[in-house]
Amino acid sequence: MSMKGIIVRSTGSWYEIAGDDGKVYKGRLKGKFKIKDLRVTNPIAVGDVVGYEHENENEETVAISEILLRKNYIIRQSVHKSAHGHLIASNLDQSVLVVTLAMPRTSYGFVDRFLVSNETFRIPAVLVFNKIDIYDKESLVYQEAFSSIYSKLGYTCINTSTITGEGIEELRTILKGKTSLISGHSGVGKSSLVNLLIPGLNLATTEISDFANKGVHTTTFAERFTVEENTYLIDTPGIKELGVFEVGEGELSHYFPEMRAILNECKFNNCRHVNEPKCAVIEKVKSGEIAVSRYESYLSILLGTDNRK
Ligand code: GDP
Ligand code: ZN
Repeated sequence: MSMKGIIVRSTGSWYEIAGDDGKVYKGRLKGKFKIKDLRVTNPIAVGDVVGYEHENENEETVAISEILLRKNYIIRQSVHKSAHGHLIASNLDQSVLVVTLAMPRTSYGFVDRFLVSNETFRIPAVLVFNKIDIYDKESLVYQEAFSSIYSKLGYTCINTSTITGEGIEELRTILKGKTSLISGHSGVGKSSLVNLLIPGLNLATTEISDFANKGVHTTTFAERFTVEENTYLIDTPGIKELGVFEVGEGELSHYFPEMRAILNECKFNNCRHVNEPKCAVIEKVKSGEIAVSRYESYLSILLGTDNRK
């Protein structure tokens, strides 16, 4: 008899499944798996709903026999095989990106690529500006300008500090009742944030490496954690760079909400918004209604130049 469950952890060779019966199983893939039209380096993602069968008398290990249709997923270009994608997570209610504008500074390009990968399925995105406690006056002005670009586009932006506790309750409210992906460059404080949200989890943070032998979690693989009933966080290893995967030239502007809104105003319906006459996008960049940084990210993804880090 086939049972159903959700993948809560993936190591690449085996998976942890939260079964409908409330138990957690260790699962392996049974037979050959080929997901139609999706070239990926990993066939199963955290968040996938799967069917599984008990293989033998061993109660804890099961064979995964099917993957149910995904509501959505986040995929990035594989670092090793550029023609392949790497599934980050699936079946999300929202996606949270932890950003810092100092130590380390997250670039516009990184944020915009992240947002594009969410927009392909219209997954609501939240930007969390962490380490707000270390910004001086000047950096705060920069941070406000940075976040206002995104709040104007409809993305939720909040400021947090794991040191002062600013914004943590607001973040908790945003997460409540949802399954959220949480990602970011390593060093932005993602593990520190998750640890505040889930007391007792003790994810390893960068400076307390001597804790490593005390059974502290290290996130090398995506994993779903329970914040409270019906509230889940899918934590991903720190991402170094984000390659947009399989977004066609004609599609890309649809994943920039400010461009999507005005696409029928361009003179040519196949306008690439690069140098075409009477292009509504270029006009709005000139008038300041579209942020130059957003347009630069668009061009960089379209033309394959590098601003992915
Ligand atoms: P991760 O790599 O994104 O998981 O980042 P960590 O949680 O390991 O944090 C990286 C470093 O940033 C550590 O030294 C943390 O103590 C520090 N850090 C995390 N959050 C904050 C914050 O809000 N303010 C400041 N000043 N430092 C922070
Ligand atoms: Zn145009």
